[in-house]
Amino acid sequence: MTRKYDRVIVGGGLAGLMSALVAATEKKKVALLMKGVGSIAIASGAIDLYGKGVGKLDPFKTIKLLPKNHPYSIVGIENIINAIKYFEETTARYGYPYKSICGRNSFIPTPVGWLKPVHLIPSTMDATRLISETNIAIVGVEGLKDFSPTLIHSGMLKQMAYADKQFLTAMMPNPFNTGRDTTSLDLARYVDTIDGMQWLNKSLRAVISGYKVAIIPPILGTEPSRYIPDALMESVGIYLHEMPTLPPSVHGMRLQKLLMSQLNALGVDVIENADVCRADVSGGVCEAIYTAAPDVERAYHAERFIIATGGFLGGGLKAGVNGVSESIFGLTIDAPENIEDWSNPNMLSSGHNFASMGIRVNEVLQAVDSTNKPILSNVHFVGRTIGGYDFASELSGGGVALATAYTAGRL
Ligand SMILES: Cc1cc2nc3c(=O)[nH]c(=O)nc-3n(C[C@H](O)[C@H](O)[C@H](O)COP(=O)(O)OP(=O)(O)OC[C@H]3O[C@@H](n4cnc5c(N)ncnc54)[C@H](O)[C@@H]3O)c2cc1C
Repeated sequence: MTRKYDRVIVGGGLAGLMSALVAATEKKKVALLMKGVGSIAIASGAIDLYGKGVGKLDPFKTIKLLPKNHPYSIVGIENIINAIKYFEETTARYGYPYKSICGRNSFIPTPVGWLKPVHLIPSTMDATRLISETNIAIVGVEGLKDFSPTLIHSGMLKQMAYADKQFLTAMMPNPFNTGRDTTSLDLARYVDTIDGMQWLNKSLRAVISGYKVAIIPPILGTEPSRYIPDALMESVGIYLHEMPTLPPSVHGMRLQKLLMSQLNALGVDVIENADVCRADVSGGVCEAIYTAAPDVERAYHAERFIIATGGFLGGGLKAGVNGVSESIFGLTIDAPENIEDWSNPNMLSSGHNFASMGIRVNEVLQAVDSTNKPILSNVHFVGRTIGGYDFASELSGGGVALATAYTAGRL
């Protein structure tokens, strides 16, 4: 059987899902091959655009000044803006809108009380609702890991925006009797049920009377839907701000569900547990890629291939004794010869070379050699597999994934 498509996309992280959506919107016949969900399941669920230096408040101010080899400079401002617009429209159409606050970054409190600059957020992460109140409740759940109201409170008091606020810290009873640690995901799954909704409604009412806003862990259900948040907020009569917690990420899982559901609606063939192991390349053109299977390899043919396999963590880049390479086509990645130069001895520094290693690409996201000549004419790379940026220190991971995926998906 020939599996022939207009676009074959490899990788089920944010960049792969977005590429597949955009290509399908462009009326292309699309297959998405994925062997896992990628970092979307461990990320906060908010989309970072750029959060370093002056870009902390107004990311576009800094993006305009980035070096030529940064993925944002390569795809250009127009593609970044259009990618954001496309993402906002897609999430709004689904009924779980992501927005930026006036086109700038907003600062969401984190479980240690630090404020993180983020760009696109779902409605239950809107910190402007917190800033506008004098009294803020922080409500945890007994036995819930990684969400300590007292720690959050002491951290937030050190932030200028919250220094003059009055805080209440409180705990709700744990609804389970399992004898093991509870995660936000356990509680969100419980709140998906009628019993869980009733437990949360009753527990919140018992601890926060008189408050108009409360910070809670992300437990308002697992679905990308406003139904549970809106119903609870209306019934309890306060704004509930869901703070992202450590993995598993409830916000990330909601976003993943939303994007997958849109792919189904657009008729994309999603092939899960598909591990792309090799490609046929002839004369600089990729003829087919192959997924590994216990018995037989399966070939996928396409006019263009979009590779969204991530970095070292996702599996798109491999480091070995001979250096660093891309994992499907075996492309060589620039890396210092001496392995000691890959990282900085100061662990907390932002100057780790390995963090920005990746494929060098041109404006249509083809891999290029040292003379800027395209290596594979019909293969385009997106997301963390591209080099020239360090998402962790810049706080730019989600934004680069969306902007590069949008650019490649429209080719
Ligand atoms: C802990 C953590 C927290 C983060 N928090 C945030 C945040 O809060 N906000 C933000 O904007 N960004 C955040 N980021 C960064 C952001 O998640 C990534 O930069 C971005 O989502 C990259 O997406 P990607 O699709 O390029 O790669 P990935 O998410 O790594 O996805 C790669 C996908 O490719 C698949 N794959 C790899 N090889 C193959 C193969 N051979 N065949 C088939 N499939 C394959 C993988 O299984 C995976 O599904 C965070 C990153 C990490 C690690």
